[in-house]
Amino acid sequence: MAIQTREALFSALFPNEPAFRWRQVEEALFLPNANSWKDATSLPKAIREKLIQDMPWMTCKAERLYTSKRGDTVKAALAAADGKLFESVLMANMRDQWTVCVSSQIGCGMGCTFCATGAMGFKRSLTADEIMDQYRFWKQYLREKPELPQRISNVVFMGMGEPLTNYQNVKKAIHAWLKYTDIGPTRITVSTVGVLMQMETLLKDDDWPPVRIAVSLHSANQKRREEIVPTTTPDFLKKLTDWSHRYARIKGNNRHHITYEYTLITGVNDTPELAHELGTYIKGTSASLINLIPYNPVVGKSFTRTSKPRIAEFKKILETYGLNVTQRKTMGDDIAAACGQLVTQTEATKPDASHSRIALDVS
Ligand code: SAH
Ligand code: SF4
Repeated sequence: MAIQTREALFSALFPNEPAFRWRQVEEALFLPNANSWKDATSLPKAIREKLIQDMPWMTCKAERLYTSKRGDTVKAALAAADGKLFESVLMANMRDQWTVCVSSQIGCGMGCTFCATGAMGFKRSLTADEIMDQYRFWKQYLREKPELPQRISNVVFMGMGEPLTNYQNVKKAIHAWLKYTDIGPTRITVSTVGVLMQMETLLKDDDWPPVRIAVSLHSANQKRREEIVPTTTPDFLKKLTDWSHRYARIKGNNRHHITYEYTLITGVNDTPELAHELGTYIKGTSASLINLIPYNPVVGKSFTRTSKPRIAEFKKILETYGLNVTQRKTMGDDIAAACGQLVTQTEATKPDASHSRIALDVS
């Protein structure tokens, strides 16, 4: 079933309306207190009534919600119009506000060996409406819980899927948030496994929003990276270095830093030698921020998380290279709220089917 965009449905329903009407409709979707078309009082009554009949207020519905014991992480299994499930996560951040971890696809075709979403394979890309509605879904969720902090301050594309292989829809959703919410571009992070072709497109794209980019590196050793990230192309690391310098020149200033993500897996990429290789590599690129992610075990995979002392040692080595190293705090383990490691098969949506790697940055 092909999913029609909201805009196409609107044009079909109201072929004779002036162009500004669609903008009004889109604006209404983000009104702070609107929970349905009924509340979109800026629209003429006749339009509102037809929308109530013919256009769902949300493109997805919560199939199940899981809240962590500490109440700082909530995961939603969302059902799209075609019945397919995907996940989205709300997590408390250090400013007493919320970060939403969004999915850009259902499943993922990149096949990273350590990732549960990768093991699902690729089902389909989410539409721009489905992506932007994950923010709207959580806003509505928070409105129904006035005792909780209300502000969503950050959005990270660290849920299911590879955002750069759904470039146009990701871009469209980001533009909607930038236009209709109080989230600024530096509070939005697009995490990519490093799809160089799309990264080149982004450099040439004047319409690409000035959001932060996180590149999932996982190894600065070409051979080791090929083993764990099978989409690694020949000379990937050299090309990434080159890209980083052009990115800094074309798009970069202090507000557009690149961050490298590095998931630490015992015996795979966490040795002191590989830490030195990583330090040397990053020094040669235009960025110096690295975020270490403790690996979260995935059912059916034998990888394990690097121990705390070993993570500390790894971090110390990187710091000798003058790098800015942060480490993620794992949240939501008890509800399998695995940001980017999310799975939506029947078994996998059970709370204990996998472990979380929902994370916040702690220096
Ligand atoms: N596809 C994009 C964004 C989603 S994954 C990407 O790969 O960047 C978000 C982050 O979670 C990535 O850095 C990814 O490598 C990491 N990740 C995936 N599985 C993980 C796991 N089991 N434990 C810890 N981090 C994991
Ligand atoms: Fe896809 Fe990212 Fe998982 Fe790799 S880590 S399989 S790119 S979601």
